[in-house]
Parts: sequence; structure tokens; C-alpha cells
Amino acid sequence: MTKSHSPVPDHVPFPFPSLEKVLTREDGCIETPQRAPSPVHQFGTLAVHAGSPLDPTTGAVIEPLSLSTTFAQTSVGKPIGLYEYSRSSNPNRTNFEEAIAALEHARHALAFSSGSATTATILQSLATKSHVISVSDVYGGTHRYFTQVAEAHGVLVTFSPSIEIDVEQLIRDNTKLIWIESPSNPTLSLVDIRRVATIAHNHGILVVVDNTFLSPYVQNPLDHGADIVVHSVTKYINGHSDVVMGVAAFNSDEVKARLSFLQNAIGAVPSPFDCWLAHRGLKTLHLRAREASNNATAVAKALEASPHVIAVNYPGLESSKYRPIALKQHRDGMGGGMLSFRLKGGHEASERFCQATKIFVLAESLGGVESLCEVPSAMTHAGIPKDQREAIGVFDDLVRLSCGVEDSADLVKDVLQAVEKAVVGGKITNGVNGTNGTKF
Ligand SMILES: *Cc1c(COP(=O)(O)O)cnc(C)c1O
Repeated sequence: MTKSHSPVPDHVPFPFPSLEKVLTREDGCIETPQRAPSPVHQFGTLAVHAGSPLDPTTGAVIEPLSLSTTFAQTSVGKPIGLYEYSRSSNPNRTNFEEAIAALEHARHALAFSSGSATTATILQSLATKSHVISVSDVYGGTHRYFTQVAEAHGVLVTFSPSIEIDVEQLIRDNTKLIWIESPSNPTLSLVDIRRVATIAHNHGILVVVDNTFLSPYVQNPLDHGADIVVHSVTKYINGHSDVVMGVAAFNSDEVKARLSFLQNAIGAVPSPFDCWLAHRGLKTLHLRAREASNNATAVAKALEASPHVIAVNYPGLESSKYRPIALKQHRDGMGGGMLSFRLKGGHEASERFCQATKIFVLAESLGGVESLCEVPSAMTHAGIPKDQREAIGVFDDLVRLSCGVEDSADLVKDVLQAVEKAVVGGKITNGVNGTNGTKF
């Protein structure tokens, strides 16, 4: 059998040439404009193929990197293709956005230069004097933006530690947005998205869910009534701790018009290379997120059984008070790859734990292939005053873990030996036992 010498086969199968095609149902119908239909294909298939057309000129299976900042026009105002200038749109960004829209069951997605820029752009889309209700337990950078930047622009944010109960009373005439993070960071509290969204929609208020901690593989907030889902792509979606990027996905054409105007006007856009890398990472999201969740479950169970541990926060545990919401909102009731726990022995023990691990690296961030550990009270959440921190469960002895995709037996062994050293053993000094990063 001879192989064709033509660089492109006669019939180039374009399995997923456009989002519309991806979202076309088997009966050929495209659903009503404001709602995305259930995708025909399952998550892993979409992760690999959505937004990944074969290159029409070379047949390249992997999209080329499109570094050009400008695109030629045949006559004034008539670009050759879909693109004019790379801040406004770029082929690598479009492909990534199409993939995210498919995975979040959304009609539209817009990528930004970071998760924080995504949050800022959504807040900037609100008219001055707008009111926002947010869960108390939000990502530190989101809290900083809400309290120190949004207010300066005339947008006021009220925080609630129990939003499902309080939301109705907190709504004002000018409330425009409700901001949810589920699970929250670092205590892994869950919010019943449907419950909050139902109340919000009765008042014409939009609901945003920061889905960073679970990734679209474990949770699709739009399916539970949210209007906008946001991600720090930096975490699970890219998954290899080498890109800072953000994305928002939603169904409304009006939201699309507002946010894409600001995406272009503010210009907080990701580079083509970052989009390319994040899209590559995304193709294995289902494998990584599944493994991370299995690993976190094993680690959480081992910690729960340890006499040195005060409490474990993990929605995958049967003992978690959030288990019913996890079963309702998460794929197969998965708990995700993040957990936190309180160690006996106070802050010192938590610090010793992070120095004693041999696989978990002491570092901020999460969602990468490598496992990380940190002490929120002294690192990611150090900016929050102690009384406020403790009110939301961030005690000095709390350790947060991001489980990677290493082998679960190794991770469990590592955590248990570190607990033993942290609680029972003496003070570990830097050097002899090695600090993180030089453990192998
Ligand atoms: C990291 C993170 C952000 C901010 O994203 P950046 O990409 O770092 O700007 C927002 N929300 C959550 C939950 C995060 O973990």
C-alpha cells in the first residue's frame, strides 16, 4: 500500500471546525439562541477536539502559533480572514475560547491575561453605584479587587458568610451581581448554586461562579443556573504551572457584547503563546482532574484517620457537611484535587509539616500536575486580619494541599510521614533535612 504524497489528504476530516458544529445536536438542530445545548460529545472528546480544527493549508493536527499582531486586508476595511489586530482577536485565542465554551456548556467564552483581569473586567462592566453581593470566603485577589478597586469605581460589595441564607435580605434595588466561589479557598465550603441563582433571577440579578478550584471537568456552574463562570486558567485548565491566564464563559449575547468590548478596550488579553499552551494543557484536563481528585480523596481519608489531625475540609469525604451539595453539583460527586486540614500543634506544626514533605512542594498556587502545600494564614491569606480569617475557618494551624497527578500511595505516605514529623518530631531546621525543592 502506497501512502499519498500529498501533504493534505483528499478528504480532510474536520471533526470540530467550529463551536456551532460542536454544539449541533444529533438531530441537526441548534438550540435556542440564549441557551447552549448539551454537547453531542462527552468531555474528553471535546477537550481534545473542540476548537482544534486541522490546519486547512498544511493539515497540521496541532494548530500553528499565530504570532502576527496584524492581518492583511484586501481592500480598506475588508480583512482577508476573520482577524484584523491581535488585541481584538487572535486565532489561538479564538480556538482556546471555543474549547472552553464547549467544556463549560456555554455559547461564548472570552480569555483574559489572568484570572484577576477576568474578575476586574466583569466588575468594570457594572455601572457606577452598582451593588454586588459576594461570598466572604473569596480568593484573596478577588477580595482585594472588591474592597480596594471596585469601591473606588463606585461599585460597592457586601460580603456574606452564609449566602444561601442571607442573599434575599442583602439584595438592594441596585444589586446587579452575585459572586460565588464554590468550593471556597482554602476551607472548601460549597454553595448551592441553584438556590442562590433562583433568588437572584427573581430579582433580575446575574450570578457569577468562580469555578477555578474544580475545573469544568468536575463542575459546570451554568448547568446549575449561574450566568457567568470564571476561571483562573493558571490553575487546573492549563495545569502545568507555566501560564498565567483567565477565562469567562456564558450564554448571553448581551454579556458577550459588554465583556468583549471591555476585553478589547482594556486590553488585558493573553498572548497567542499562552493561549496555545493553555489549550494544550486543556486537552488532558479530564485525565488530570480525575487523577487529582482520586489522589485528594486518598489523602483526605488518610488524614481523617490520623490522631494528629483536628479536622479535614474536603467535600469528597462522606463526613463533609457539604457532601450533599457535592453529590448534586459535582461530576460523580467528586471532591476535586484541593483539600485543607488542621494539625494538632498549632501554627508551628503546620509550618513543620510543609518543611517535612518530600513530594508536596511548599508553594502558593494549585491545580498543576505537581502536588503543593502551603499554610494559608502565613501565605495566601496573610493579608486578611486574624479575627476575620478565623471567622471563615482559616486558623493558624490550617494546611492547604493541592494534589497533583503523582501516584496516590506515594502522596499518602508523604503526607503521613510529614504529619508524624510535624506533630511528634522536634523542630526541623532548614538545610539538613532539605527544604522543599531539593528533596529528590
Ligand atoms: C488564582 C485564582 C484567581 C486569580 O487568578 P490569576 O490567574 O492568579 O490572576 C482567582 N480565583 C481563584 C479561585 C484562584 O485560585
